[in-house]
Formats: sequence, C-alpha cells, structure tokens
Amino acid sequence: MKDLKNWARTALCHPKEILYPTSQEEIVTLVKSCKQSNTPLKVVGAKHSYNDIFCAGKDGINISLKAFNNIVNIDHQKHTVKVQAGIRIPHLIKILKANKLSLKNLGTNVFDSLAGACSTGYHGSGIAHGIFASDVLAFEVVSPQGEVKIIKNSDEAFNIYAVGLGMLGVITHITLQCEPFYKLEVIEKRMPFEEIEANFKTLLKENDHFKFIWIPHTEDFMVWLGNRSDKEESSSFKKWMTYGWTGVVVNNFFHELLLFVASFKRDLVPSINRLMSKILLPKEGEVAQSVYPSHWAFFLPHVLKQDVVEYAFKIEETFDVFGELIEMIKERGIYVDTPIEVRFVKKDDYWLSPTQGEDVCFIGTKIHFPLRRQPEYTRYFTEVDKILLAHSGRPHWGKQFRITTEDFKKNYKKWDDFWEFVDKEDPKGIFQNAFSKRLRG
Ligand SMILES: Cc1cc2nc3c(=O)[nH]c(=O)nc-3n(C[C@H](O)[C@H](O)[C@H](O)COP(=O)(O)OP(=O)(O)OC[C@H]3O[C@@H](n4cnc5c(N)ncnc54)[C@H](O)[C@@H]3O)c2cc1C
Repeated sequence: MKDLKNWARTALCHPKEILYPTSQEEIVTLVKSCKQSNTPLKVVGAKHSYNDIFCAGKDGINISLKAFNNIVNIDHQKHTVKVQAGIRIPHLIKILKANKLSLKNLGTNVFDSLAGACSTGYHGSGIAHGIFASDVLAFEVVSPQGEVKIIKNSDEAFNIYAVGLGMLGVITHITLQCEPFYKLEVIEKRMPFEEIEANFKTLLKENDHFKFIWIPHTEDFMVWLGNRSDKEESSSFKKWMTYGWTGVVVNNFFHELLLFVASFKRDLVPSINRLMSKILLPKEGEVAQSVYPSHWAFFLPHVLKQDVVEYAFKIEETFDVFGELIEMIKERGIYVDTPIEVRFVKKDDYWLSPTQGEDVCFIGTKIHFPLRRQPEYTRYFTEVDKILLAHSGRPHWGKQFRITTEDFKKNYKKWDDFWEFVDKEDPKGIFQNAFSKRLRG
C-alpha cells in the first residue's frame, strides 16, 4: 500500500499502487485491465483538492499523469495549444510565454494539473470569464471501457465532460483556447462594504477581473481590479517584495507564527487580523498599483496549510449572503483567521458546474493550520454550509462541504442525468470512489 496525501493534509488514502503511465496506449491497457479485474482506478493530479475526490481506495490503483505532460502542438494563428493532460500549469505557462501566449484566466493557485483543474470546476474571478474548463476546445478521453473518445466543445457531451469529477475515464489530452501574451494592471484599494455594494455593477462590468476580500472581525474590505494593459511592467525589485517578502515571508511565515500563538488562545485572532490588515492592505485613501504578466498577477503564494469551504450562488444574492455570513460569525462567536474572498464567474451549461445556468458569486472562507495545529472549525464550516444551502448554493468540488444528495438534486437540474450517464459509461463503477458514493448517497 502507498500513502497519498493532499497538499492541505486534509485527505489521506492508501491505494494498492500508484502508476505513472507515459503514453495513451499504456493508459488504454491499464484501463482495460482494471475493467477486467474490477479494480478501482482514479487519476490523481496535483492533489490540490481539499477533499478525497482523487482517492482510489485501498483496493484501487491511482495513476498520475505527471510524466505524460508534453505539448502536442501550438497553433499560433488561432492561439490554441494541445497538451498531454498531466501537464502542470506552471510548465504550461512557461511554454505559452515562450510562444507569446497566455492563459485567458487563472485562480490564485497556479500549481494544479490541467486535467485536475478542469475536472473540479477550478475558477478565477471576472464576470466575462467562465470556469477554467470553459476555455477548453476539446478533451481526449480514455473511457472506462478503454476506448479513446474526442469530445469537442461543440458536442452536446461536452456539457457532461467539462466538469467530470474524474468519473468519466482518463482525460489524456486537452486543447485549450489561449490569447496573445498579456499583462494585467492590478489596482488594490480599501473600499467600505457599502461603497462596494453601491458600485457593484460598475466594478463588475468595467474591469476584466474583479474580486473583493473582507478581513473578519474588522471593518476592512479591499477590492482587487485586474485589467489588460500595455503599461510598463513593475520592477523586479517590486515583484520580489510583493511575492517574496510580503507574499511568502509576511503573509505566510510571520502570519503562521502569530496564528500558532492564537491556536492556544483563539480570542487573539481579531487582534492578529487587525495587525495583518494594517501591514498588508493599502492605507486608507491609497491605491496599490502594479503591472505583471497575467500569471503573476493572478497568483497568490500559499504556503501556510489550511482548509477551505467555497460555494457558488446567484450573483444577485451576493450582499445578502455576505451580510448573513458576517452576522453568523459575530453571533456564534467564531474566530476566522483569514480573509474571506468573494469572486464572480460567468454562467455555462455544464451539467455539474457550480456556474451552470447563472452568473455566480463564489464566497470562500478558510481556517489555517499553523505549524500543524488545527483549531476546531467543523462548527464554522457547518454554519457556512447552512447559510449557503438556504441560498441554493453549490459547493466547489475540490473543497469541503457537508451536504446531502437531496441538496445536490435540488440545486443541479441534471444531477440524475449525470450519474445515469456515468453508470452507462462505467457499468462496473471502476472510476467511482468513496467521494462519489457520498455524493450519490
Ligand atoms: C492553496 C490552494 C489554492 C487554491 N485556489 C483555487 C482557486 O483560486 N480557484 C479554484 O477554483 N480552486 C482553487 N483551489 C482548488 C484546486 O485548485 C482545485 O481543486 C483543482 O482542481 C485541483 O487540481 P489538481 O491537479 O490538484 O487535481 P486533484 O486534486 O489531484 O484531482 C481533482 C480531480 O481531478 C481528477 N483528475 C485529475 N487528472 C485527471 C485526468 N487526467 N483525467 C480525469 N480526471 C482527472 C481527479 O481524479 C480528481 O477527481 C486551490 C487549492 C489550493 C490547495
């Protein structure tokens, strides 16, 4: 048995074997042999999901495509790239940059595998942009029967495969729509909650990318605006200060030490949050401006381990939900040690996408584990689940949630159709795991 632990150390599994195929033929042979012997099989990406979605179980086999990660071709005219699906996003970014191309959008974590990011509905922020999978033009998949299928984004089946949770076989190749290399000008400034609400539509519409954060137990809110720009790139010194010093040393290592102390005395959290807000956010009335290649601009360094709950819900309910969240934290006396992040994503038609059918707001909230100490946070995440469910919220598939099959059925009109399709493709259920069994009740 092997140990497979995710980045956050919140999911641990012990598959019988972990294999590293290097060709599509090898993957086909492996899938057929697992089908023959009824052996559970699951692809594991970068293990950045917070739950056990990638686990095959103790009698199963996990395969990693990290050695199946080459570029197949680049179309410079159409700005598209076809890659082997195990490619990690940093590797892809490097090759795209050398070819004067950029990804259209990214979240704050840029270390996922491309197929893992697509499979869980990974997203960034910006109402003109869908989830990451919406930039996919085609998937090549080894089905649970061992057949190679090509699913184009013009096919009806793309709506099923776009967010497939790893249940529909092994994605071996992805063709992605990119855009010419671009820089983002990022503006960060404090803005009171009421002002964000009053200017919400303008903030959403007039910026390529817009999100905001709240520092819990304070009145401090900050907006983050990202726009494509030809302005001169910020200096290397500024970049080092932003990502190295402020991003890693202050926001991760120093914060971790403070939170380690607070893990013995949780009522220190509000003071720590006030201090971090003073250090990290621009001062009242000041604007922090920078210009970086887009992949740097989207990125936030994460070193300090954490657990996360994140839900999507109708964008029109953004401020109601946020108000309820603030109220709940106050009323229940819960200490929240990390900024709450609020992002916006365009709707799509993908059956299991949290953004299916409506433009959404994603609210994500974390609790940190300083130096491996875990404060009790189940009560907090359960309260978040309750608030979001009352707003027909749909959880991020790679994060934590404790909701029932009935809730999923209510909130996804194609829920039963999706699983019917899965069963038809994989009657022996070799790609099913404990995660899918919980989802299905
Ligand atoms: C610090 C941090 C920050 C994050 N920030 C964001 C963010 O900004 N936005 C966001 O949306 N999410 C974010 N996440 C969540 C994370 O990025 C996503 O859950 C992502 O999907 C994980 O990708 P992975 O490569 O690690 O996949 P894994 O977690 O390894 O696997 C996820 C799923 O993909 C399947 N899979 C992987 N490869 C294949 C394949 N080739 N074929 C079929 N199925 C496959 C697996 O079987 C599994 O079901 C963050 C996570 C961390 C740890």
